[in-house]
Amino acid sequence: MPKAKIIIVEDEAIIAMDIKNTLESLGYIVLAIASDGTEAIRRVGELLPDLVLMDIYLKNGIDGVEAATSIKQHYNIPIVYLTAYSDEETMQRAKVTEPYGYLLKPFEKRELQIVIAMALYKHKTDEALRISHDQLERQVKERTHDLEATAVENSRLYLEAQEAIRLRDEFLSIASHELRTPLTSLYLRLQTLRRKAEAWKRANSGFSLDELLETIDAAVRHTRRLADLVDELLDITRVRLGRLELHVEELDLIGLIKEIIIRMNPALTQSGSKLLFESNEQLIGNWDRSRIEQVLVNLISNGIKYGKGNPIEMSAQRLGMNIVIQIADHGIGIPEKEQKRIFERFERAVGSSNISGLGLGLYISRQIIEAHGGFIRLESELGKGSTFTIELPPTSSSVIENSN
Ligand code: ADP
Repeated sequence: MPKAKIIIVEDEAIIAMDIKNTLESLGYIVLAIASDGTEAIRRVGELLPDLVLMDIYLKNGIDGVEAATSIKQHYNIPIVYLTAYSDEETMQRAKVTEPYGYLLKPFEKRELQIVIAMALYKHKTDEALRISHDQLERQVKERTHDLEATAVENSRLYLEAQEAIRLRDEFLSIASHELRTPLTSLYLRLQTLRRKAEAWKRANSGFSLDELLETIDAAVRHTRRLADLVDELLDITRVRLGRLELHVEELDLIGLIKEIIIRMNPALTQSGSKLLFESNEQLIGNWDRSRIEQVLVNLISNGIKYGKGNPIEMSAQRLGMNIVIQIADHGIGIPEKEQKRIFERFERAVGSSNISGLGLGLYISRQIIEAHGGFIRLESELGKGSTFTIELPPTSSSVIENSN
């Protein structure tokens, strides 16, 4: 064990020397002898001893109790008082400074040894207790903090779960409505078809084959719509399970866009929107044909649905290595605060509830484009229209990662 270092505060030089010798003979190191209180405070500050042996009655300046009070305020050093006699009042003052011991002068070497050893030991255990108390307090604080954080996280998760349930319920009600509408039409068309077929059989009605074809066309359209809706639902499950695979092949993008436009012509005509598309470039890349088609059809359909019959402009061009496709309408637009949300599952912007849709198209489109290593961006202003921009790298990987 390292030897304890002690400062003696004693104004009687002979007594001080005597104590010094005794302490050294006991194996302690005497760092200094101070002869008054002010010097004692200064020396303690300079030398930081393990213990101060403090005479209470000092002739010059402040007394030992005052010096001890000041030392106690600034340093965590045990003090042992030395005193020849003591009146009650001084003893009371001394007690307040919580000394580690008293030695009544004159004292024996053995007494000095015991009092100092006890003071050092008590101080050490006090320190250990203080440290473990501090540690305990810190641990309690950390644990409380952890518990608070967990509680906050739990309530966040709870709110999220509630929101997810609300969204799912809302989605289920929209989905049933959406599926019900074409199903009802399909049912009615098939009934009409049956009636007409019966009439034909009886050969007494004047209906034409054209009428029959028209009804069949309408039934096919509704079946197609139902199949699309079911596909969207299946895609969601595939994306969730990370199983939406890309079948990458060489693709002539402009050729694909032109095909899509021809196919969507009836819907365009019905809505009154014209689709303006121009491109002189040949844009060839490696992408999944049917998935890219799905994205473009979805964006054009949205342009038709939300475009208020205004023209839709479409462009496709090269930008450095990448291909940029833009689809812009001049329809209802999307409020800024909803522009991020509508790319999430089941999310629809306010004001679109009277227009049919599941709120899945943009979510799936984003997944498809990101799986191709590209991104999709939206600029829109409420009441003015929306522009969707897709940027695609020329080649892409083959599996859609599960993004959430
Ligand atoms: P939906 O089947 O509802 O159209 P989408 O995922 O394709 O689903 O679109 C999500 C929502 O984003 C739509 O419900 C609509 O509120 C909004 N939205 C999408 N495209 C447009 C657009 N071109 N103009 C205005 N709003 C749009």
